[in-house]
Amino acid sequence: MRQRGGCVPMPASPDATRMATNMTRGPANRLGLDYHSAPPRKITGPIVDAHCHIHVCEQTDAFFEAAQRYGIAAHLTMTPLSDVARLRDLRGNRVGFIAIPNWKSMADSREFIGQWMADLDAFRRFGARVCKFWMAPRIRKDLGWTLEHPAVRPVIDHAKSLGYRFMVHVADPSVWWGDGKPYADTGVFGTKLDQYPPLEWFLEYVAPTTVIAAHMGGFVEDPAFLDRLLERHGNLVLDSSATKWIVREVARRPAEVRELMLRRGDRILFGSDLVVRDSFEGFDHYASRYWAHQMMWETPYRGESPIDDPDADDPPKLAGLDLPPAVLEAMYAGNARRLGLVPEAG
Ligand SMILES: [Zn+2]
Repeated sequence: MRQRGGCVPMPASPDATRMATNMTRGPANRLGLDYHSAPPRKITGPIVDAHCHIHVCEQTDAFFEAAQRYGIAAHLTMTPLSDVARLRDLRGNRVGFIAIPNWKSMADSREFIGQWMADLDAFRRFGARVCKFWMAPRIRKDLGWTLEHPAVRPVIDHAKSLGYRFMVHVADPSVWWGDGKPYADTGVFGTKLDQYPPLEWFLEYVAPTTVIAAHMGGFVEDPAFLDRLLERHGNLVLDSSATKWIVREVARRPAEVRELMLRRGDRILFGSDLVVRDSFEGFDHYASRYWAHQMMWETPYRGESPIDDPDADDPPKLAGLDLPPAVLEAMYAGNARRLGLVPEAG
């Protein structure tokens, strides 16, 4: 694991760690915070969470309660097609859909591709403007696919013909390539850097269509790499989703990430990667992610992260970047609107 610009632990600000003795500590709340009282926002405008996965289930109300308390006015969600109509009924234009395939039917890749294209048509009828290609290193192992693989080409072409923008997931945390970690076998999964030539091919193939590379392009560990990628490809934007990963790696190099955010503030979307389904545990889980993002982007907080993270230092740290209001406004809603990603957010 590379570690640069290590974070010096500093006492948490009293404001940020307002304790409530009756709060239950758990993996989403190791500091015993009262997530119901959200810290004041640095800006007043609406916030679009451009990357989440909302299922319609018993947890859905708790999720939207957390979102509302943290000022999240609209969501772009990778909701399964079977839940889309019900979520639209519940939230109207406050949700926009990101088209995803039904991964459960992946076993037969030929049938999967056909169904994926039909689902793109169906999502489009619900107003979806973005479609997601999940091409994590695991897909290389399971199907031998990357974005560049000919099997995927008809789906890309079909999505483009329907006017979709794209979201892609191409890489995972660098720590997962370490000894004993999921991607240690680079003969099977490729190296971390091997994940990027297919992305660059894709960016050129679909240009000038917008491509959102999820989770800070998969490489928050190397802000200079991301800066060069953004320089080379004008149609690339990043989203800030995957809270534990982003919080952990920002805390290791806050100055470098802040510099990237200031330089490329018009190319980054706010996203949480929250997954709303019944296997997750309620309000604190959802609120913890919004709390962590707010502290990270908006404040000079230096201290412990309230969220358990097995890949982090012990204790897990959170470093606030104290971004200026103009950058926050662009990241929170302005960029999504300019790129035509949301129906009528906020
Ligand atoms: Zn996601």
